[in-house]
Amino acid sequence: MDQLFVADAHVDVLMKLLNPKIHFGVDDPRLAANLPSLAAGGVATQVFALFVMPDADASAQLHDVLLEIDAFYNQVASVPTVRPVQTRDDLRMARQHGQMAAILSLEGAGCLRGSVEILRILYHLGVRGVGLTWNDANELADGCGELRGSGLTRAGRAVIREMQHLSMWIDLAHLHDRGVRDVLRLTDGPVMASHANARAIHDHRRNLTDDVIRELIRRDGWIGLTFEPSFVADGSVTIDDIFAHLDHVIELGGVRNVGFGSDFDGTTNELPGLAKSSDYAAFAERVVQRYGSDLGRAILFDNFESFLNRQLPL
Ligand SMILES: [Zn+2]
Repeated sequence: MDQLFVADAHVDVLMKLLNPKIHFGVDDPRLAANLPSLAAGGVATQVFALFVMPDADASAQLHDVLLEIDAFYNQVASVPTVRPVQTRDDLRMARQHGQMAAILSLEGAGCLRGSVEILRILYHLGVRGVGLTWNDANELADGCGELRGSGLTRAGRAVIREMQHLSMWIDLAHLHDRGVRDVLRLTDGPVMASHANARAIHDHRRNLTDDVIRELIRRDGWIGLTFEPSFVADGSVTIDDIFAHLDHVIELGGVRNVGFGSDFDGTTNELPGLAKSSDYAAFAERVVQRYGSDLGRAILFDNFESFLNRQLPL
């Protein structure tokens, strides 16, 4: 079989690269999505999330986000087989040269402190997707773990408007249901969820309701199914449990709008057989066996490629 390409919309490698003893380029087991592991897994598109713990004050968060951006350009984008992608043209060049497309996203926007100016600066530094919150509440919105459960603040709405202006993708992962509803009411374009599953299959606050999944599909958005076992099923979780979520999204009409966002290096639990990027090689073969070559390749890679070609600036 030809090499199966994989697109992954979410890993938390950059946070770990703040530790000067951990390096992206070597096969260090402390890093699930290191360069040799990504290459072995056939990963041709990787979104690298900027994540810092939201309990730090906003200026400390921004400081660490900037250090993670430095780690991205210094250790990831500098690799000859990797191309940093900010535009559709960059993506085309990455394919032409057989390079892995590496894209920056922001997971939880507490570092903005509600400022669209800082959002724009992060855009200029290459950030192309933003989730307003992690599980906590911040100046923009409440995350899915905030008991108050409010929607978007005035500042959150301003950030969403500016993101649309800049053609940054809006990531619904971690946002509270009320915030999800607000985002869908305030926008009419494509919206995505980089790492979340179907709540109808596993009832967890981090997963998406069928109404939201249908709406993302209707807008030609994208959903990245994720491997953190507590978001997949109860008890001992297997790869077949991932397929239950995938089957469900396909049943809802998402055959062109679904793929994967592993959350490697961002989770505490491991799904056996899907614990590091190199595991994608065997997993991709199972996907193609189960769904056939065309649909399998669409799920693994093409659907996210199409999303990027709709969403990235020219
Ligand atoms: Zn996350």
